[in-house]
Amino acid sequence: MLGSNVWRRIVGVDRHVVIEDVEIEGEDDEATVVVHVRLRKGARRRCGRCGVRAPGYDRGEGRRRWRCLDLGTLQCFLEADAPRVSCPEHGPTVAQVPWARHGAGHTRDFDDQVAWLVTHTAKSTVCELVRVGWRTVGSIIERVVADGRDAHDPFAGLVRIGIDEISYTRGQRYLTVVVDHDAGRLIWAAVGRDKATLRGFFDLLGEDRCKEIEVVSADGASFIADVVQERCPNATLVIDAFHVVSWATDALDEVRREVWNEARRAGMRAHAKELKGCRFALWKNPEDLTARQEAKLAWIAKANGKLYRAYLLKEQLRIAIRTKGDLGLSLLEHWRTWAARSRIPAFVELSRKIGRHLPGIEAALRENISNALIESTNTKLRLLQRMAFGFKEPGHLIALALLDRGGYCPPLPGRS
Ligand SMILES: [Zn+2]
Repeated sequence: MLGSNVWRRIVGVDRHVVIEDVEIEGEDDEATVVVHVRLRKGARRRCGRCGVRAPGYDRGEGRRRWRCLDLGTLQCFLEADAPRVSCPEHGPTVAQVPWARHGAGHTRDFDDQVAWLVTHTAKSTVCELVRVGWRTVGSIIERVVADGRDAHDPFAGLVRIGIDEISYTRGQRYLTVVVDHDAGRLIWAAVGRDKATLRGFFDLLGEDRCKEIEVVSADGASFIADVVQERCPNATLVIDAFHVVSWATDALDEVRREVWNEARRAGMRAHAKELKGCRFALWKNPEDLTARQEAKLAWIAKANGKLYRAYLLKEQLRIAIRTKGDLGLSLLEHWRTWAARSRIPAFVELSRKIGRHLPGIEAALRENISNALIESTNTKLRLLQRMAFGFKEPGHLIALALLDRGGYCPPLPGRS
């Protein structure tokens, strides 16, 4: 048999752990390596939850196994006693073991490797490679994230934050998410989109740190505005430019559907067909258009004046928002006059909506918050949503989002 030192290195434990025996159980495909270990005296009898030394309570459920990283093609387990201690704060609790997180059936290294994989590759690949189910993956990443949040206060130094809602699963279920604009990280997420949910975040943040918040960006939802006003006395509420542009895109799409229906009703079938195919040309930023889409846009300019005016309105608003500063503000003012007089109902309505949210939009044009950051967070969250469909528990989806967007993904075990 190899020496204890070698085995300690292989299974990732330190000198506080004694290797008692190593054996192979089962045969062929079923074969597994079991490493029997015990803790040295100094490392025993600590509370599994807080790490405080505590008197013994009982033997718990006797011996237990923790899955380790595979050894070659073989699955590997650590086996040890799992007695309980009597913690002054937590009562009878399974004693701490240095190789695993509390309550886990896998070692720390195993957990960390799964967490790394899940943010770097496809769900089915992870499950196949590490031979665990998706549900177990969910519990693993929840532990890893909770551990990371205990180690580093996720709310330290918050000054500029963004609040958004994203839907998950195919039903109408939502998460409220909070990002730190300065660190570029997702810092919090919870199920629900209402005042009570958001108040939960500010409760965690605490009154003092709420006072430090200077800027809150959001999508214009009134529940967010109300709670921010109630909890953050020094914050300016700004409307994410990204949302304003998406309002304009929605208005443009409404006009496109309208003129398409008009053409169909008038029996202009060829015209209607052309209109149907121009969604992307209208929707994309002009600098990103392909040659075909450019041609399509030129056709719209000639063939349908109303739709083309709607397109120009959308573009002009996007430019005002993108320009920012005083120039952006004056472009926005011109835009509002133009849209209000456009006689295109979707844009008349949009000019009113922008009027209602004007203080927040103007504040956004004055603040130097990168739109790209919010957009990339949003895009990434929506990708995660799709990936998380297999999770039955919203807690697992939240953990996945925090792992990937919150900076909690650990390095691969054994590497820094
Ligand atoms: Zn304790």
